[in-house]
Amino acid sequence: PRCSRQLVHNIRHRTLNTASITKDPFNAFEDALIPIQNARPGALSDLSIGVKANIATTSFKTTASSNALRDYVSPMNATVVELLEDAGAQVIGKTNCDEFGMGSLNTNSIHGPVVNPFRPEEQRSAGGSSGGSAAAVAAGLCDAALGTDTGGSVRLPASYCGVVGLKPSYGLLSRWGVVPYADSLDTVGIFAKTVATTRRLFDTLNVHDPRDPTSVSSDARTSSPRNHSTTLRIGIPQECFPRELSNTVTESTRNALANLKAQGAELVPVSLKSLSFSLSAYYVLASAEASSNLARYDGMQYGLKVSPPASADLSDPKAIYAYSRTQGFGSEVTRRILLGAYSLSAEAFDNYFLQAQRVRQHVKNDFDNAFKEVDVLVHPSAIRTAPRLGEPQVGLESYVQDVLTVPASLAGIPAMSVPVSHSEEDGWPIGVSVVGKWGSDALVMKVGEMLE
Ligand code: GLN
Repeated sequence: PRCSRQLVHNIRHRTLNTASITKDPFNAFEDALIPIQNARPGALSDLSIGVKANIATTSFKTTASSNALRDYVSPMNATVVELLEDAGAQVIGKTNCDEFGMGSLNTNSIHGPVVNPFRPEEQRSAGGSSGGSAAAVAAGLCDAALGTDTGGSVRLPASYCGVVGLKPSYGLLSRWGVVPYADSLDTVGIFAKTVATTRRLFDTLNVHDPRDPTSVSSDARTSSPRNHSTTLRIGIPQECFPRELSNTVTESTRNALANLKAQGAELVPVSLKSLSFSLSAYYVLASAEASSNLARYDGMQYGLKVSPPASADLSDPKAIYAYSRTQGFGSEVTRRILLGAYSLSAEAFDNYFLQAQRVRQHVKNDFDNAFKEVDVLVHPSAIRTAPRLGEPQVGLESYVQDVLTVPASLAGIPAMSVPVSHSEEDGWPIGVSVVGKWGSDALVMKVGEMLE
């Protein structure tokens, strides 16, 4: 009843915060930013926050960067937004992203691409899908930002923009009020300039939410550490140095590992065989869940409604769905829906969907075995530095950028990208990822701090 009273209140008094200062030059925010007001007291009252366009807020539109939700204003705040505001943080705007979180370059957006602020004159991608959040933090437009990470959408843009990006363990941060893409993988993530600020947000958001059925109960939020020696054992998965990796990324990762060793860590080469199959499995599973999730935007229940033209056959009640969805979705989202619907069809289910589920289980087992030997894994976050905007992406090239991030997503384990250096070749930021077993988020951040 409390919730519905709040809802009625919000609907009646729905006012959009339109007080504006100028729009940022990187297209990181989808709309004008609101000026910072007198802070509410609380643990985060010194922080301004950007929130990804697919996380519900009452004070701003929640478009998910899709035409289907172009004018949508949510009657409620997502739990994560509520928690930040309760702690005194100020949400100053919604950040640009790939439509419904689908993409790796932030180029699939009704708001247009995000320009990486590192050297804007070079017109490079901020990465995706949470490119706006990463760029906003990198440019100093806000102190921290929320993103979502389904297969790397926090870690990849963090790496390209030179900021910290954390994907916590699945089930720790509430997804209530987050526009779903692929529920079994979707995770709310955090961007900041330092691990210390990331931790402050994480500590505020790391609470059980009864409104999210996948939210983990309060007494089961951490896992016990490996009970061996006191030396930190860091695994280096050989599968995370694929052919596509650029030399300067390998070099930077090597230096980061040497740095950890100098601080007393023991480096242990490990092999996780199934990681090589992760990317294919991820795209089958994520698309399958997306095709089911996005069925709701039919112009009747949810989303943009487009009436068929007078010439259309109006005896078909599905005409309105077809017209609404055709105009509501961009080409990448349409591709995912088709791919997902196919892999779920009777003809393809065994060979694609079930096979991908099996790979997912192997990935989980491989991680479990690795974490019997080592405390965390460390590997490059991305195969290269930020690509130029407008650089043609041939075939599956844009999917290949996720090859290093999707394994942790399939396993639901914590992973954080930390900026470690700049490329010897082009001077752009390079990030390294720390990955831990489920519930070891605190350790992942601790090792992340050793890399800073
Ligand atoms: N690039 C991946 C995809 O398009 C991951 C996106 C994400 O993590 N939201 O699915």
